[in-house]
Amino acid sequence: MVRSLSDISTVLDKIQDVVGTKYVSNSEPIRYSYARNADPILKGVPDIVVRPSSTEEVSRIVKIANETRTKIIPRGGGADLTGGAKPIGDGGIVIDMTRMNNVLDVDLGSRVVTVECGISWSELCEYLRKVDIGYYPGSTGPASGFGATIGGGLSNNSLGGGGAQMYGAVTDQCVGLEVVLPTGEIIQTGARANKYMKRAFSRHGLGPDYSGLFFGDVGIHGIKTKASLNIYPLPEYVGFNTFDIATTSDQRSIERARDVIKKWQHSGVKIHDIYFYTESYARVLKIFQVKKPFITMNIQGGIIFYVTVGNTSRELDENIEHLNKIAKESNIRKLGPTIEEGNLGKWFAEEDGRWQWAHIYWGLLGPATGSLGTCLKTPTDTLPAYVDLYNRWSNENTKNFSKIGGGTADFIVIGCHPHYIDVTGGISLKPKPEQYEMIYNMWKSLLTAQITELGGMHYWMGEIIGHALVDSGALSKEYYQFMINIKKTLDPNKIISPNKFRLAMHY
Ligand SMILES: Cc1cc2nc3c(=O)[nH]c(=O)nc-3n(C[C@H](O)[C@H](O)[C@H](O)COP(=O)(O)OP(=O)(O)OC[C@H]3O[C@@H](n4cnc5c(N)ncnc54)[C@H](O)[C@@H]3O)c2cc1C
Repeated sequence: MVRSLSDISTVLDKIQDVVGTKYVSNSEPIRYSYARNADPILKGVPDIVVRPSSTEEVSRIVKIANETRTKIIPRGGGADLTGGAKPIGDGGIVIDMTRMNNVLDVDLGSRVVTVECGISWSELCEYLRKVDIGYYPGSTGPASGFGATIGGGLSNNSLGGGGAQMYGAVTDQCVGLEVVLPTGEIIQTGARANKYMKRAFSRHGLGPDYSGLFFGDVGIHGIKTKASLNIYPLPEYVGFNTFDIATTSDQRSIERARDVIKKWQHSGVKIHDIYFYTESYARVLKIFQVKKPFITMNIQGGIIFYVTVGNTSRELDENIEHLNKIAKESNIRKLGPTIEEGNLGKWFAEEDGRWQWAHIYWGLLGPATGSLGTCLKTPTDTLPAYVDLYNRWSNENTKNFSKIGGGTADFIVIGCHPHYIDVTGGISLKPKPEQYEMIYNMWKSLLTAQITELGGMHYWMGEIIGHALVDSGALSKEYYQFMINIKKTLDPNKIISPNKFRLAMHY
């Protein structure tokens, strides 16, 4: 790997030949600004930052990296919370994809949009809203979707910014990719792997599902430059209701939330979204007034809301009636219809709350906040066990929290499939640099417990979660070797994010 200053300037010169002087830099302010994203704990400063404008430029940069044995870290919006988009341990080239942010094609016949991967979820939705009768990509990215990109979402298997209960994760809607492989060659996956097919419309066929090789790969298998996603007409009839789950104990409120989610998920009703916020999270949303009217919300416990859609107003009314009946039988209190009265479902669906609900989570204490994020998928039944584990970990670490000063620990549940949920846990801390190592260890111990005690399935793996997975021994020897073999075949020179999952140290 490149280290000396003269080596770096040679690489810089070569990249300048590709993108010009304006879009590549090794200046300190630029390098250090790319060393930060939403967490300060995981550290890494790149040698060079480059902002290509085309697939061909990406390919040429990757070839230069191979010739000079320089590591590369792809980056979209940089909203990763787990060290995915910066070079942990320093050095290398960060490829910022956000200049590649065009919508290339909207195929209304097959209902597929093709984009460059540096476009954000909010930009894409805004674009599609204006097409013909108004469309959207179903699953509308992560909760960071105002800045997070399609490439980051596909690389992190994201969900959480809306639509997941109906459409799954964003990868479930992707029908094909263009990828620059770690050695610089460009390939298409899905239907367009056949060079005689000009339209992306299906991911499956032509043999193995090679799109899947790049989904949730945190960028280790290549750089996604273009993606084709299914699109859907914007739902004409949308309804939402929010309920207060006030009980005598936290445990009972969790159990009640689990029961309601399960009944809603199994109801057969078209539910677009289900979200549950614990009592303390609901309080934080209110106190910090993510939105001004929240201050008047009359909430006592945790809150749970649904968003349902219908093709006709009659269908919508029937859906609402059915879901409200389940809520009533479960003894949870329906809040009023306005946002002021606590209807977060309305804020979520009508006012883009989908991309704002998590800001308070990880941004609560300002830009130096440590996030300790742990999002995972788990069967709905296991929610109380997950929360028990989380509380146990919090109690074991009370002393550490008080040393660091400040902090909130909490979790949120997102319905993301009729058979399972997504549990988002995290804690906001404002640590001093000398506490980073202690916090890293604390964080990793939580991740390891989730993986080994509950079989937790994290999806944005970044650097720390991939390491926790491998170090915990949860992967069989054979499976891990299989991962190493694939990485070695695609990336023989260990160029792209070589430390993730600790793969490159094995070949
Ligand atoms: C407030 C907040 C809320 C969040 N909510 C959610 C949520 O609800 N759900 C969720 O899943 N995540 C969430 N996240 C985490 C993160 O923002 C998302 O996972 C998001 O999808 C990352 O997208 P990005 O464009 O910012 O990617 P980056 O942070 O830039 O990168 C993410 C990973 O993808 C790789 N990558 C990026 N672009 C490419 C590309 N074109 N080709 C190959 N690899 C690439 C990077 O190397 C990195 O490993 C949240 C973060 C914040 C700060």
